Amino acid sequence: MCIFCKIVNKEIPAKIVYEDDYVISFLDINPRSKGHTLVVPKKHYERFDELPDEELCKLMVGVKKTIEILKKLNFKGYNIVNNNGRAAGQEVDHVHIHIIPRYGEEEAVK
Ligand code: 5GP
Ligand code: ZN
Repeated sequence: MCIFCKIVNKEIPAKIVYEDDYVISFLDINPRSKGHTLVVPKKHYERFDELPDEELCKLMVGVKKTIEILKKLNFKGYNIVNNNGRAAGQEVDHVHIHIIPRYGEEEAVK
């Protein structure tokens, strides 16, 4: 079972930001900025284009709900990033959307 499936199944711990029937969002273990969060479908898919359309919608709604929760961090902007394949920098083969809050010139990490 992949590492993110283990997080979905609560077999390994993660700092959960948001969860519903379809997605779970948790803090990245190696954050690029304060509040760097990963949003993953609970069902295992490797690549973004493998998700059926209706599941893509649920995933992106989960991204939006997660951003709403992260707003308490008072970021100034955010990046949404999704890597697919080794050549694109994907290290974990379970689809995940990065939400990377941005704070301006002084990036707050931790
Ligand atoms: P990728 O490079 O596949 O787009 O991103 C994988 C991300 O997963 C990385 O930012 C990495 O820090 C994060 N990550 C890898 N293993 C774990 C883990 O066990 N727990 C958490 N919370 N994040 C992880
Ligand atoms: Zn998985």
